[in-house]
Amino acid sequence: MVMTELDYIKQNVQQLLQELPPGVELVAAAKQQTPEKITAAIEAGVKIIGENYVQEAVFAFQVIGRRVQWSFIGHLQKNKVKKAVEIFDLIETVDSVELAEEINRRCAAAQKIMPVLIEVNSGREPQKFGVFPEKVEDLARAIIQFPNLKLCGLMTMGPFEGDPEESRPYFRETKQVFDYLKELNLPGADLRILSMGMTNSYRVAIEEGANRVRIGTKIFGPRQ
Ligand SMILES: *Cc1c(COP(=O)(O)O)cnc(C)c1O
Repeated sequence: MVMTELDYIKQNVQQLLQELPPGVELVAAAKQQTPEKITAAIEAGVKIIGENYVQEAVFAFQVIGRRVQWSFIGHLQKNKVKKAVEIFDLIETVDSVELAEEINRRCAAAQKIMPVLIEVNSGREPQKFGVFPEKVEDLARAIIQFPNLKLCGLMTMGPFEGDPEESRPYFRETKQVFDYLKELNLPGADLRILSMGMTNSYRVAIEEGANRVRIGTKIFGPRQ
């Protein structure tokens, strides 16, 4: 039997789901993928789709709908918040009070509560999005003031694409910030999601406490 590309996607998902320890959620990072490929991943057991671009998400969402959860994992521009709030069940990349305020405003208008994560720039790289670890508490305290946001945890990318061991200290520090935040018992927060690790780094991320991994290449193959 000749395996098609869609068969490979299904096989990849099944292998991943078998490998992930209980309690670790799989987000299929679907940027640049067609609804057909995303659907194959869903048929193999994916429950959460991660999208980087609101426009792509609108397109995929029209085909796939609410059979799965939709998680926003890209950089969210303010002029896209209104649309994002319609589609997404979680926004993983809040990194400023201004963005939080805009999400809150749009959610209030739509009578929704949006679960959000703070994106941590754990590598402290100036050109990257996210807040530095030492700024997370301030942003967390700001977010919990917004009635239409629910702070649910942290997300980080980590600075490295290469050897996953090099990401370990950054995942570890993000976990420490996560634990510290939990101990603050911030009113209204529900700190239960620590989203870290991608195709090359998810095993290390899980060892360092991730309970949500965002995987694209290992499911769909290399992107163009
Ligand atoms: C693309 C992307 C991923 C997945 O990356 P892979 O290396 O393809 O697994 C995870 N998180 C974010 C934020 C991404 O943009």
